Amino acid sequence: MGGIEEQVAGVNKCTPKENGTMTSLSSDAVINLDIGDPTLFQSYWSKIGDKCTIAFSGCQSLSYFANTKNLCWFLEPELEEQIKRIHSVVGNAAVEDHHIVVGTGSTHLIHAALFALCPPDCPEPTSVVCAAPYYSCYPEATDFLRSGLYKWAGDAQTFDKDGPYLEIVTSPNNPDGSIREAIVKGIQGKLIHDLAYYWPQYTPITCCAHYDVMLFTASKCTGHAGSRIGWALVKDKDVARKMTKFIEVTTIGVSKEAQLRTAKILGVISDSCLHPGSNNFFEYGRRLMAGRWEKLREVMGRGELFSLPEYPQEYCLFTGEYSESQPGFAWMKCDENIEDFEKFLRGHKILARNGSRFGSDPKHVRASMLCTEEEFELFIERLLTIRGTSNGNHYF
Ligand code: PMP
Repeated sequence: MGGIEEQVAGVNKCTPKENGTMTSLSSDAVINLDIGDPTLFQSYWSKIGDKCTIAFSGCQSLSYFANTKNLCWFLEPELEEQIKRIHSVVGNAAVEDHHIVVGTGSTHLIHAALFALCPPDCPEPTSVVCAAPYYSCYPEATDFLRSGLYKWAGDAQTFDKDGPYLEIVTSPNNPDGSIREAIVKGIQGKLIHDLAYYWPQYTPITCCAHYDVMLFTASKCTGHAGSRIGWALVKDKDVARKMTKFIEVTTIGVSKEAQLRTAKILGVISDSCLHPGSNNFFEYGRRLMAGRWEKLREVMGRGELFSLPEYPQEYCLFTGEYSESQPGFAWMKCDENIEDFEKFLRGHKILARNGSRFGSDPKHVRASMLCTEEEFELFIERLLTIRGTSNGNHYF
């Protein structure tokens, strides 16, 4: 989504080798921070060794079905159990009174939720909104198939139409890391809470979320984007049933191998939190993100060159400490001398996503903080060079 192929073409990227390590970048390589490819936890998973290794024999996973007694009949019981377990270990979302629907990434579940929440008998497509800056894939996902059921209606802050609507609430938000609540106050609205980043490595866990539809993804929780597993926690049975139907019609379920691998990985993470002395995954992730944010803030000179959002200190129920958010993306703003920040950074061989893609302006960019260590170090080096060659307010 968001033109992945156009980001990958012609760009030197660290790519995984067969043994799981990454290839090296040359010092003049273009670094791609446009896409949020979560390769940063590579070092953790390399150290974990064989604990997550899982093998399948030829006689396994032949059936479409996983559990015919479950509303979501293709959900592997082992994955269901480990999803419930990790949410109760972290305390970030209520699971007991929710149905779990598994999807091929949470991207699949966004489509499923739009389908399930739209009133079926409306004379015109239901408006889908999200407060800007919003995740750039929402408009594309909403309008891609020109559905008669729903259509993208832009920024929730300026939405004032009567009638049914769907509001996507992304918290912490992609791209700017802010903590959000629904803002449209219409009586016929339904909410989709995209909580992809509501994990302790990115933000303090301030409450156990208990919304009607909550979306999570392994991509951002464990870093296994390639497994393509996402899950929805859905309070209403009919909505869960409709989401399940959507997945049945579009893909007849979700890969069992990917589900079982994700179950294994989630189990290892929960164990790492519960057994002192084992390498707590979220602590590791928190340290990694904190280190990156500290370096980035240092090089950005706290607003001298470009500015970054500030985040409040909040008490985290998971760690029992006060801390600030350290989001998966840096939402960077340039000073008044630069018109198009994306273009400017491209001149320095840094690819970041233009703010206009998020319903904002070209003075902003979103740069991924989820890249490999090598890419991140090159990013910092390049920003230092930009800083070093800046003359007054001009950066040439
Ligand atoms: N929601 C948000 C807010 C995201 O940032 C992403 C991934 N960038 C997704 C959903 C989609 O994640 P997945 O890889 O599970 O499809």
